[in-house]
Amino acid sequence: MPRTPAIVALLSAAALAAGPLHAQAPADTAAIAPRYRAVADRLMDAALADSSAWQRLAELTDRFGNRLSGSESLERAIDWILDGMRRDGLEHVHAEPAMVPHWVRGAESLELVEPRPARLPMLGLGGSVGTPPEGVTAPVLVVSDYDELAAHASEARGRIVLFDAPYVSYGVTVEYRAHGAVAAAKLGAVAALLRSVSPFEMRQPHTGATYYDATVKPIPFAAISIEDAAMLHRMQARGQRIVVTLKMEAHTLPDAPSRNAVAEITGAERPDEVVVMGGHTDSWDVGTGAMDDGGGIVVAWEALRLMKRLGLRPRRTVRVVGWVNEENGDRGGEAYRDAHAADLAKHVLAIESDGGVFRPSGFGFSGSDSALAVVHAVGRLLARIGADTVTKGGGGTDIEPIMARGVPGMGLNTDGTRYFWYHHSDADTVDKLDPREMAECVAAMAVMAYVVADLPEPLPRGAAAAH
Ligand SMILES: [Zn+2]
Repeated sequence: MPRTPAIVALLSAAALAAGPLHAQAPADTAAIAPRYRAVADRLMDAALADSSAWQRLAELTDRFGNRLSGSESLERAIDWILDGMRRDGLEHVHAEPAMVPHWVRGAESLELVEPRPARLPMLGLGGSVGTPPEGVTAPVLVVSDYDELAAHASEARGRIVLFDAPYVSYGVTVEYRAHGAVAAAKLGAVAALLRSVSPFEMRQPHTGATYYDATVKPIPFAAISIEDAAMLHRMQARGQRIVVTLKMEAHTLPDAPSRNAVAEITGAERPDEVVVMGGHTDSWDVGTGAMDDGGGIVVAWEALRLMKRLGLRPRRTVRVVGWVNEENGDRGGEAYRDAHAADLAKHVLAIESDGGVFRPSGFGFSGSDSALAVVHAVGRLLARIGADTVTKGGGGTDIEPIMARGVPGMGLNTDGTRYFWYHHSDADTVDKLDPREMAECVAAMAVMAYVVADLPEPLPRGAAAAH
């Protein structure tokens, strides 16, 4: 039975009222710092003395470049990660299969025809359909939002609609990337363009997934730079006629086989109980996918390598997963859920790093309040590196499918100031990342995963997760 938030809240309240079970939590929480201070310091010392996370990410991204689902570069990168995990002496290193969507960009271009000829930088949005070989040539209608589109609905037919939506936040503004093509197609537009979803201007387009609606004919959809969106908007305001030619070879092939990459340190006392952590190995087909999300899988992998190197074996198993296909399908997260359906009840915690491996501030946590108190206490061990803030709410796309089955979830929180400057663009490269900050991310992941995996009692799920 699917659990609604209301039912979870009700059951949590019941757990609180039940008393004895919950009453243990404060005592356990107080014991965490004295019990784990020394080992946490060892893990942090090792992480900060060891800059191999950045080097490893540089090698991954230099060797294989970007890693779109269905691409050969992704499969070669997964092989390299698995080989590296074996060379590190990690345990139970293996791949778990997942079928992934296979979208191919092909050649693409956007030419301004009127009022003056110019080639505009563009990126087709992931999942978009292509144009006929000769492209789509049409006048442009610029709108700032859906309201403005509705107000000019009668002018959209036969045109290319440009959404010049101001950046509010990624979560808010990405709506236009996700569903803009459908909104424009419903009014008879022949294609759509998007002001890139980014707070920072480098005259560079940012790609990302877009979605169609089975009831509306799909139209080609591409991102342009913030600067060019503003220019086209000014031209329209001046009353100039704007005509562009959009050419895209984008198309979707049959699903392709891919894999989640898995490695472990098997638990000393309760090997069937698991803390799973990781990031996603796939990326968009631009830049080198360094911060989204090569850095995420590398810091989790490094955290496990450090535990191994220090000879640490917690009570429970710590498992690292490089999930596949976060960007355009979440098939890796779903495959993990299905492959481990029988043991999800024994998944104590899932941690994802997918917000850029910048300076870490702590974690966001989704689970019972009694579990929040425990991970909050664990987080305090990270005060030395300023990563001790554990906030309510958090997770990640790859762990979402198992969180929906009751596994407590957690996302690494980092300084997000610059993440969306580079996100899904050609500028997502390793040079933007700092070795020291990446090492701090490794330290945070290592301490959180190790301590939660070693606690005498499993992280309390509360009555909501009873099975
Ligand atoms: Zn990502």
